[in-house]
Parts: sequence; C-alpha cells; structure tokens
Amino acid sequence: MRTSEIRKKFLDYFAAEGHTIVDSSSLVPHGDPTLMFTNAGMVQFKHVFLGNESRPYRTATTSQKCVRAGGKHNDLENVGHTARHHTFFEMLGNFSFGDYFKHDAIRYAWQFLTGELKLDPARLFITVFEEDDEAYDIWTKEVGIPADRIARIGAKDNFWSMGDTGPCGPCSEIFYDHGADVWGGPPGTAEEDGDRYIEIWNLVFMQYDRDEDGTLTPLPHPSVDTGMGLERVAAVMQGVHNNYDIDLFARLIDAAGALTGVRMGDDPVSDVSLRVLADHLRSVSFLLADGVLPSNEGRGFVLRRILRRACRHGRLLGMYEAFIYKLVDALVAEMGDHFAELKESQGNIEQVIRIEEERFIKTLDKGLKLVEQAAASAGKGGTIPGETLFALYDTFGFPTDLTADILKGTDISLDMDGFERCMEEQRTRARAAWGGSGESALPKALFELREHHGPTEFLGYDTLSSEGVIT
Ligand code: ATP
Ligand code: MG
Ligand code: MG
Ligand code: MG
Repeated sequence: MRTSEIRKKFLDYFAAEGHTIVDSSSLVPHGDPTLMFTNAGMVQFKHVFLGNESRPYRTATTSQKCVRAGGKHNDLENVGHTARHHTFFEMLGNFSFGDYFKHDAIRYAWQFLTGELKLDPARLFITVFEEDDEAYDIWTKEVGIPADRIARIGAKDNFWSMGDTGPCGPCSEIFYDHGADVWGGPPGTAEEDGDRYIEIWNLVFMQYDRDEDGTLTPLPHPSVDTGMGLERVAAVMQGVHNNYDIDLFARLIDAAGALTGVRMGDDPVSDVSLRVLADHLRSVSFLLADGVLPSNEGRGFVLRRILRRACRHGRLLGMYEAFIYKLVDALVAEMGDHFAELKESQGNIEQVIRIEEERFIKTLDKGLKLVEQAAASAGKGGTIPGETLFALYDTFGFPTDLTADILKGTDISLDMDGFERCMEEQRTRARAAWGGSGESALPKALFELREHHGPTEFLGYDTLSSEGVIT
C-alpha cells in the first residue's frame, strides 16, 4: 500500500466513524508565537481542548504536517541514524473534544490496525501509564492483549500535559515489533532505545485539569488526542524496517541518486547522506511553502541550518554545485497532490533553495578545511575554541550544529561558552553600528513567499510551557 493510500485510508476510516476531516494546519503555529513549529496534530486544536474555542464538530481527523527540528522536540540529530525519525513527517490523528473517551479511542486504534490494515496482532505491543488501570483493563480484558505484550510505564513517556497547568492525562502507546533480526527490546526494558520495537501510535487521554499547586481535577468532558506517524505505518505496511525505504523516500532518494551518481546501498556512510538529503529536502520545502524564510534567527535560522546540513551532505556525495533545488520537482510529484501549497510555491521554493545553496557553497570548502585544521590541532579528546567556532559561523556560515555534525563520532568537543561570548561581543558591536535592516539584499522570491503568508513571528523559548505536544 502506497503512503498516500494509507493516509487516505486513515482519514476515510475515521470519517466513516463520524469524524470531520480537517486539513493540516501550517507548520507555523497560528496564534502561538512561543511554539517554534507545529510538531503534533493537536497543535491546531489546542484552544478547542482548552475550551476557549468551539468548532462545528466534536470529533475530527487529520494528517498533520509536523517539524521536530527545534524547541523541546528536536529530532534533527536522529535523522539518518535511526530508522524512524524525520525532521518533517506527517502525523495521522483522531480527536475527540469531550465526545468519546478511552474505550472508543482504544477500539478505533485496534480496529484500524488489525481490521483495516490487517496487521498481525502478535506483532503489536502496548504500553499504558502505570497508574491507569482503566486503560490496562480495556486492553487486556476487552481487546484481549496477553499480559506479556503490555507494559505499565512511568510518567516520563506515558503521561502527557499541555503545559505546567491545564489539560493532562495518561497515554497509551502502540509499538510494532519488526522482528528479532533488528536490535532492540520492548518498551520498559534496557534495550528499548533500539529500533526493533517502533512506536507507531500514541493515544492521549486528556482526563485532568492541573492547577498551579499540581492538583489534578477530573475534567467534566475528557478528550482524546492521538498521533500516528504516517511514514512509520507505511514502513510496516510495505514490509520494510527503515522509514527511509518506503515508496515516498525511495523516489526522493532515487532522484538524488540520479543527480549524484550515488545509490542507496553503495556504502553505509553515503546511505546516511542520502537519507539526510531526502529528509531535509522535505522539511526545507514545506517550511518555505508555509512562509518561513531563511534568516539568522528564530524559525528562519532553523530552516537555514537544516539546508546547510543538507548542502554538506551533498558535498559528501561529491556535489560541488547547487543541486538540492532540482530535487523539489520529485517532492512535488510525490506530495503536491495532497499538499497544494507545495505545488503552488514550487518555483519560489526552488529559487530560494538555489540562492541559499549557491551562497553557502562559496564558503563551504574553506570552512570544511578550517574544521579539519581545528580538529587536528585540538587533537584526540581536545576542544575547538570558541573563537574558531565563531569564525566558522561568521565568516564561513557554519552554524555550530553543523560543525558538531561534522565532528560527530570523534571525541572532540566544542567550547560553546566561548562561542556565546564571541556572539555577544558581535551583537554589541552590531548594535553600535546598526544601519538598517539589510533586507534590501534579500531576493525577490523571498518577498513573494512572505507576501503570500504574512511575516512569521517567533518570540523564543522563554515561555515554552505552552509547547504541549504528545511525547
Ligand atoms: P519516539 O519515542 O519514537 O521519538 P515520540 O514518543 O517522540 O516518538 P509522539 O510525540 O508520541 O512521538 O508522536 C506521536 C507519533 O508520531 C509517534 O508515535 C510516531 O509514530 C510519530 N513520530 C514522532 N516523532 C517522529 C519523527 N521524528 N519522525 C517520524 N515520526 C515521528
Ligand atoms: Mg509517544
Ligand atoms: Mg516515544
Ligand atoms: Mg521522540
């Protein structure tokens, strides 16, 4: 079953059960300047759950565009290294706003997985919050999950809250066992970080209201929020272990292979670069389509950092010229039918990526040489000084996470405090010499994208309590 068919099957299933199909919201959270990017299906419904907003439906289903590359949920470092993480992914979800609760949420999930998708129940593994006897009983007594395929887990992974106060409640997660030839153990064991048991679906039961003292009061109308990774289910359905082997990614990776001459399976190191490229192509293109523009701060800086990491992986694959922008076409062919915004902005997306690539390529080689020299003089177990990190950032356009990514696997560390001091000094100098916003240097395509969407605002991480996503 193709990824696009699974998406449709999910939405159709919940629509047939009376849910309203709602479009994915933008990756830029509307009306929430404290959240970096939309990172879960519930984000667009936050105020409905809080009771501040009403909608003409009590149950809904979505396939939500998510980015987890900044803020509390950051999967950037996992990309290319685990089988299951992307910076951009789609989260399938069904939601009840004070309508159905645990029984139906569990019944729907089980019915969809084993009835619609026909997954083998013996491959599924369940977790519940350790104190949630109600969910434990529904799974074991009503669904018939044997005791050795369900685990009670603590609050870190199985208790969700929207913020320090407000709606919260236990979760129940569904894992798929990819089989004994993959390393890893079931949740709650020492090997749980492996990729054998992969979490596919998280059911959140919003059951309580937490007040400032931490007291939990039962909500009069409890709600349900669920999230299932589309690419992870696609991997299961397509009989592959790694998300990057599903149809959608295979085509993006083929397109990259056609340009670079490097194919999946040639070498484990270049496989990582191909996966990173395909992943980053998606997050960069979708962020641009939602009006985020490359910049040196906030959301635009995350976008720029992702793109520069992609450029460096392109360089590892032997590419000396801009080429990532040429992959947008393959992405639009794969995803443009469902996400019209991608198709509409294709020209601008290509142009902005190309300009960014061309600009960065000018300094990439020199920067890489400097990293190499700095690593050599730091020596084994040594540290790269803050001044060097700053020179890499300021002169060669290497954000520190890029430098760290290049040094991954070595035991060389980065003097981040020193880097921050250099940044602060530069800010002071810049304030003294400020002479305009410099925006006139931005290419026209950037303005067209921004005009289309309005500026995006991001206030920083100081008030992160509202970043309530399911974990
Ligand atoms: P994991 O423990 O594997 O990192 P999570 O617990 O952080 O996942 P949730 O916050 O519960 O994930 O999100 C709901 C679902 O979204 C997950 O069960 C998973 O299927 C999917 N998902 C989460 N993060 C990613 C990601 N980075 N890439 C792809 N799918 C993801
Ligand atoms: Mg989870
Ligand atoms: Mg998890
Ligand atoms: Mg996670």
